[in-house]
Amino acid sequence: MQFIDLHAQYQQLKARIDTRIHSVLDHGKYIMGPEVFEFEERLAEYIGVKHVISCGNGTDALQLSLMAMGIGPGDAVITTPFTFFATAEVIALVGAEPVFSDINEKTYNLCPLKLEETIKNFQSDEGITLKAVIAVDLFGLPANYSAIERICKRYGLTLIEDAAQGMGGKINDTNAGSFGDIATTSFFPAKPLGCYGDGGAVLTDDDDIADVIKSLRVHGKGIDKYDNVRIGMNSRLDTLQAAILLEKLVVFDDEIECRNNVANQYAAALCGVSIPFVPDDYRSSWAQYTVMSSNENERKGFMSNLRDAGIPSAIYYGTPLHQQTAFNKEPEFRGNVDLGALNISENISKRVFSLPMHPYLSETEIHKIVENLK
Ligand SMILES: *Cc1c(COP(=O)(O)O)cnc(C)c1O
Repeated sequence: MQFIDLHAQYQQLKARIDTRIHSVLDHGKYIMGPEVFEFEERLAEYIGVKHVISCGNGTDALQLSLMAMGIGPGDAVITTPFTFFATAEVIALVGAEPVFSDINEKTYNLCPLKLEETIKNFQSDEGITLKAVIAVDLFGLPANYSAIERICKRYGLTLIEDAAQGMGGKINDTNAGSFGDIATTSFFPAKPLGCYGDGGAVLTDDDDIADVIKSLRVHGKGIDKYDNVRIGMNSRLDTLQAAILLEKLVVFDDEIECRNNVANQYAAALCGVSIPFVPDDYRSSWAQYTVMSSNENERKGFMSNLRDAGIPSAIYYGTPLHQQTAFNKEPEFRGNVDLGALNISENISKRVFSLPMHPYLSETEIHKIVENLK
């Protein structure tokens, strides 16, 4: 059994993907070929944003967004400690300071109440300016954007949506990838909308931000490619990956529906573990199906039973970011000087584990997993 079965997906789409790949090999425009721009347009239409600017990966998409907002040394950015390392890594990478604010214990996403507390605590601090918030759509569930957007407006902060896991999620009829001032995503193969290598994108309605990011992704180019007007990066989506994504986008809605079917079957049958919570009016893209045990030892038992039966499982995420060695070396993080301010992330990271989740998971496989956990 596969944790994420990319081979099953390729078998379904083989003829169409192969044709698209061969057409790129025939025209030979490997860098910024026509498929790149076609995909950017299609994805913008699909998500309902004005601009999609593709780039090398989801980490670069976050970095490009921070660079476009002029965030760097002397600035601070608030984010969640319960996410993939890249979300906070990029804040430090541009020279700014990551500030962690704890999650809601049911959704695992940034808690708006605690976010406002973190902002208020921070404001008493001198010298460093709070500039932005990066909210994450963890495991495919969009964060609480109506509350978070309101808070960011009130305190004059830029809001970035890290939708690397969020594509395919929704709040009412609004798609993940369209919240905040800027959204970013990743097309890493295991993400809900993945390609067959690395890829990413920035999504925004703002014309000026879009123009700056188009420049930043090609060495800070001006109107002419060899006129460099700012310090940028080399971060582009390969034409071959864009060609693959064009075909995957056609079946994306169906795949999200299949993922939701799998999630519903899990929810109806699982016992002994807490199942994920999805608030009313929210749709998850189920980037991960993450369940919770009562304690660390019980998790160890569940996972070893699964392993013995040939069922893969994984821990996302076992170490909250403020406890990662790279950040732990730093002194206290601003806004979280109180001991225990991040205790929900610390507690949950010891208890969660994720079950196989992909659109092609069969009823037999789901049954086997559920029976094993019983
Ligand atoms: C995967 C991921 C990223 C980074 O994407 P890459 O394409 O691997 O660079 C950033 N944030 C989150 C939440 C992710 O899951």
